[in-house]
Amino acid sequence: MSAAPRIDLHTHSTASDGTLGPAELVRAAAESGLDVVAITDHDTTAGWAPALAALPAGLSLVRGAELSCRWYGEEPPVPLHLLAYLFDPDAPELVAELARVRAAREERGERIVALLRADGIDVSWPEILAGAAGGTVGRPHIAQALIRAGLVTTTTEAFGSDWLGERYRLPKEDIDVFRAVRLVRAAGGVPVFAHPRASRRGRIVPDELIADLAAIGLAGLEADHEDHSPAERAHVRALADELGLLVTGSSDFHGTHKTVRLGAFTTDAEAYERIVAEARGVTEVASG
Ligand code: AMP
Ligand code: FE
Ligand code: FE
Ligand code: ZN
Repeated sequence: MSAAPRIDLHTHSTASDGTLGPAELVRAAAESGLDVVAITDHDTTAGWAPALAALPAGLSLVRGAELSCRWYGEEPPVPLHLLAYLFDPDAPELVAELARVRAAREERGERIVALLRADGIDVSWPEILAGAAGGTVGRPHIAQALIRAGLVTTTTEAFGSDWLGERYRLPKEDIDVFRAVRLVRAAGGVPVFAHPRASRRGRIVPDELIADLAAIGLAGLEADHEDHSPAERAHVRALADELGLLVTGSSDFHGTHKTVRLGAFTTDAEAYERIVAEARGVTEVASG
């Protein structure tokens, strides 16, 4: 590894709403000059094995996932994302929870499509499901159908308030965030709150909640992320410092579903080593 390793701890493949397959993702990570990449698909570990099998020489792979969570401290409850690293992919309770969330995503996707169709918008659920190709289905897949139908031209536009951002947005049945942190730790994993201050995505949670999560096992906060303004990044760093949490930075790469590039934001080696040291699930970081 070079003196200053390049570490990107948040990326998506076709196992969820990215556009590169897991094997293509790790190859692209190596080509981008990364030393470490984490695969963190939404609510699934399905990309781990194909990413591992294709791991290029010199690249280390952190196996992870991004869990769809919810905080029930406000009405309506606030959706949030929890990154989980190096957990045991066979931990029964966590496996069951992920399967439940994936099923809830399908059910909610189908209901969103029904709302669109009721307004005369010609999108097809079977086609959208086929577009997800067995990966965790999400709004980006519905966005593609809106683009195909010529109703919007970009994914960003599809997430506008007239479409999937508000008018046709439905909640899904996520994991209670306290339960998620506990389940990830019980599975030997290391939980990091993804883009915790991304106000442009919707409502954010108060710092008090983050303190409460830190008290039950949250390990870190993602500070450097394209959805955080410089002020939001600084706030997250200060909060992490106060709570003794580690800080990460990452691209949240989604292939062509987003414009951000692999390695656009990175994590420093100390934070990465803390994650590895705390992991008890799949303990070793795989190296190609
Ligand atoms: P879902 O998980 O189905 O609720 O959809 C949320 C996903 O959509 C996120 O994980 C992002 O990948 C993507 N997303 C959210 N907001 C935007 C946006 N403004 N532009 C493009 N993609 C977005
Ligand atoms: Fe996503
Ligand atoms: Fe996220
Ligand atoms: Zn993500």
